[in-house]
Amino acid sequence: MAEPARKPCRCLLAESWPSLGETVAAYVAALPEEERVPEAVYAARLALCLACDRLRDGTCALCGCYVEARAAKRSLRCPGVPPRWDVETGGRDDR
Ligand code: SF4
Repeated sequence: MAEPARKPCRCLLAESWPSLGETVAAYVAALPEEERVPEAVYAARLALCLACDRLRDGTCALCGCYVEARAAKRSLRCPGVPPRWDVETGGRDDR
């Protein structure tokens, strides 16, 4: 008998799919430091994703990215219009 369909949650992979969450966390940890946002920026971005109604089981419904991976990269921004979080320039305006 098939399992009943689970309602998608507004949550990160760490909650919805822990083994995939670990894989994505390892990917983030392996990013070169110059490509990765500081921990405080990462946490702030993920907090905004957690408050966003586009988040489904750790995936952004706008771009299809795992937000735990997307939010880790300095060069990326939220795909929303306007974006909920933006490119991290580290104080430089080089976008
Ligand atoms: S990346 Fe932007 S649109 Fe996607 S879930 Fe996060 S805040 Fe929402």
